[in-house]
Amino acid sequence: MRLRVGIIGAGPSGLAQLRAFEAARTLGGEMPDITCFEKQSEWGGQWNYSWRTGLDRRGEPVHGSMYRHLWSNGPKECLEFADYTFDEHFGRPISSFPPRAVLFDYIKGRVEKSDVRKYVQFNTVARWVDYSDATGEFTVIVEDLTNGITTSHVFDRLVVASGHFSTPNVPHFEGIETFPGTLLHAHDFRGAEALAGKNVLLVGSSYSAEDIGMQAYKMGAGSVTFSYRTAPMGFAWPEGVRERPLVTQFEGSTTHFSDGSQSDFDAVILCTGYQHKFPFLPTGLALHTPNVLYPENLYKGVLWHDNPRLTYLGMQDQYFTFNMFDAQAWFARDVILGLIPVPTAAERLDDMQTWLARQNTIDSHFDDVDFQTDYLRELIAATDYPAFDLDRVADLFKQWLKDKENNILGYRDDTHTSVMTGTEASPHHTPWLRAMDDSLDRFLGAR
Ligand SMILES: Cc1cc2nc3c(=O)[nH]c(=O)nc-3n(C[C@H](O)[C@H](O)[C@H](O)COP(=O)(O)OP(=O)(O)OC[C@H]3O[C@@H](n4cnc5c(N)ncnc54)[C@H](O)[C@@H]3O)c2cc1C
Repeated sequence: MRLRVGIIGAGPSGLAQLRAFEAARTLGGEMPDITCFEKQSEWGGQWNYSWRTGLDRRGEPVHGSMYRHLWSNGPKECLEFADYTFDEHFGRPISSFPPRAVLFDYIKGRVEKSDVRKYVQFNTVARWVDYSDATGEFTVIVEDLTNGITTSHVFDRLVVASGHFSTPNVPHFEGIETFPGTLLHAHDFRGAEALAGKNVLLVGSSYSAEDIGMQAYKMGAGSVTFSYRTAPMGFAWPEGVRERPLVTQFEGSTTHFSDGSQSDFDAVILCTGYQHKFPFLPTGLALHTPNVLYPENLYKGVLWHDNPRLTYLGMQDQYFTFNMFDAQAWFARDVILGLIPVPTAAERLDDMQTWLARQNTIDSHFDDVDFQTDYLRELIAATDYPAFDLDRVADLFKQWLKDKENNILGYRDDTHTSVMTGTEASPHHTPWLRAMDDSLDRFLGAR
């Protein structure tokens, strides 16, 4: 019997796994029997935009956290697939920071070119997983959301690629229930047009806060205030944008901060992060971790230490994205195919502890970049994923971090050079701050 591999999720990580197996056909040997369950009706994960919030039309929690006018927050040159370049997809240079629809088109291009759609069961949610020590098999119970019918599937290996930016982390703040204005978590934010003229508070100081805050500014917010817990982001903010320390209390529309200051707001957006949540996994298989570069209990960042037949993809904090998911998926594939042996538990532990110890020494964003670059280097060296100059990608990330320091509103207008092809990005026809139509047609069209 062929090895049976189950994959949960057809976002960029799950698609990377499908693509990895497809690419392995050239290696010869028997291919596993692959089934990928995707609860949405389309693939692409976060990039498959949904206007919905809360529950979807079938009563399932909405997966997507992206908003309508989201543009890439990092250079596309840092996420480029090594086996499917932007040049190949678009046939000409494009700018370095494309909008959501353009990146979605690129992701789809690769999987449409390879013949992997046949593996995906859409509208199918993984409800529960059991593992049997006796047989070494996973039993996955899924529900077909179109008819409510549950079925049970048995696999020898399981890949969890269900993402970790969907279940909001929502802390309580004293008096928040008295706030009379718009109050939502970033997960439910879909657009800033309604924030024009409003005084907006973003609680948090990570990517979501920064990006939604600048989106609110772009759409004409009256003022934008960020509240940080540990340290300010410290960018050279434009007029009308400022940072305050932690919120201590809400009192109606008035918010109090830990430095004793207070302000009135019309809207509050909680950019307080997400939880790694796997409601379909029992204790013993479910990963519990904060959003870090190297989650505990994942050998090489992917293999579940207690049971290396279980793989997790894309569970790290992300500088690298699409090509990191590829590096992980290629590695997981070769472990599954038996091309890479799984070391003993003691050896795995030793390896993980080395990475965890290094993670503890990180004290800057540059260190983050170096850490994740070295992590990728190790994974890519282990497989036949096309090698590329990772140090140049790391340099690009660092340049991007500096560009943001210099011009938080203008860094998306900068252009970078592809590490894969050497192609210099073309400047976008409209500066990001003035670009209001971010459809694929408008992006690719003339001025
Ligand atoms: C607001 C926001 C902005 C971002 N901006 C960028 C950016 O500019 N550039 C960038 O590179 N990255 C960005 N990211 C990071 C993004 O997470 C990754 O690019 C990528 O989408 C992660 O892929 P994934 O497959 O691991 O997870 P996801 O994209 O989350 O996909 C997971 C898939 O699993 C499915 N699924 C979940 N649970 C189940 C279940 N029980 N059964 C069946 N299917 C299930 C979901 O429906 C989904 O399709 C952003 C993320 C967010 C939230």
